[in-house]
Amino acid sequence: MLSGAAYGDAMLTQRSLVDEPGARCVVDYSLAKRAALHSLKAGRLRPEEACDAQIYLRRAARYHGLPTGETCPVCNAEDLTLVLYAFGDDFPNGGNGRARARKELRELATVLPEFTVFAVEVCLGCGWNYLVASYVLGTGESVSRRRSRSSSQA
Ligand SMILES: [Zn+2]
Repeated sequence: MLSGAAYGDAMLTQRSLVDEPGARCVVDYSLAKRAALHSLKAGRLRPEEACDAQIYLRRAARYHGLPTGETCPVCNAEDLTLVLYAFGDDFPNGGNGRARARKELRELATVLPEFTVFAVEVCLGCGWNYLVASYVLGTGESVSRRRSRSSSQA
């Protein structure tokens, strides 16, 4: 369980994620992110290591990203964008691990049993990127069905 207020402004984005109806197994990486930013400022982490958003991530941020209204903590020039990647056994071929719009995730959550969403914040200016949260969405229904299907292997 998240107790968001303790993390201050860094939680705004994550809180809106956790408000996602039906989100389960929420993991909050804001402390790790703070540590990374601290290392960066202290010179223990090089900017080219922290700000290494690849072309696919940048593209996903441009086309599927959610605006956060938060300024990048590294360059202080651009607003951060959140990219939501969805992983699960129930996606059709090629659909696993794709960046998806939030609306699409909400629709999928009503039809698919279970998938995990990884939220990555990206700065299109300097390339800063960090996994800030993960959570599970889905109807949760077929877990027992799946179990009974694979029970012969147990
Ligand atoms: Zn930046």
